[in-house]
Amino acid sequence: MNFLEERIARDGIVKPGNVLKVDSFLNHQMDISLIEEIGREFHRRFAGKPVTKVLTIEASGIGIACFVAKEFGVPMVFAKKSKSINIEGDVYLAEVESFTHKNHNQVVVSKKFLGPEDHVLIIDDFLANGCALLGLISIVESAGATVEGLGIVIEKGFQVGGQVIRNLGYPLESLAIVDAMDPETEAITFREQIEK
Ligand code: 5GP
Repeated sequence: MNFLEERIARDGIVKPGNVLKVDSFLNHQMDISLIEEIGREFHRRFAGKPVTKVLTIEASGIGIACFVAKEFGVPMVFAKKSKSINIEGDVYLAEVESFTHKNHNQVVVSKKFLGPEDHVLIIDDFLANGCALLGLISIVESAGATVEGLGIVIEKGFQVGGQVIRNLGYPLESLAIVDAMDPETEAITFREQIEK
């Protein structure tokens, strides 16, 4: 098990409805040493890519993306959830269905912060059905920028998102892939990944 899988096995809580709670170390209370290590690991995995921006989505990706951006020495931009239907001004817009809240959000990024010259690394905490990542990819493409890769902390391998994104041909790196989890026994099965 890698450092993250060990932590998930120790502190992750399996909830009914295919939800894994990691709020004691990742997305509510945050273990900053762990997040720092996650930042270094994404930097290692995407080394050599000409990344100019790290992009994530409000809210739980932000802390993680900050540490990744620091490793690359580039700005972090997050897509904001927008409540207004009439989006004013110069923004790229995508519609994202929330897996955890079961609602739709419009997310926006100002055109000031993403353009055709950008090479973007997309980061998020979880990958379930892939809606969040597809929304972020569409924003990068609307900007005429290049998706250099996608980095996910925890992919739930029994949901379709990973397959959808890989089939589209994007380089996707997930630090931990959960292939099964059982709310009764709390057992979590990780996919074996070849160390690159
Ligand atoms: P997707 O768009 O891939 O269906 O879901 C990804 C988003 O939903 C992530 O940004 C994450 O915030 C949330 N999410 C999906 N599955 C889980 C989960 O099992 N646990 C938690 N804490 N968040 C999740």
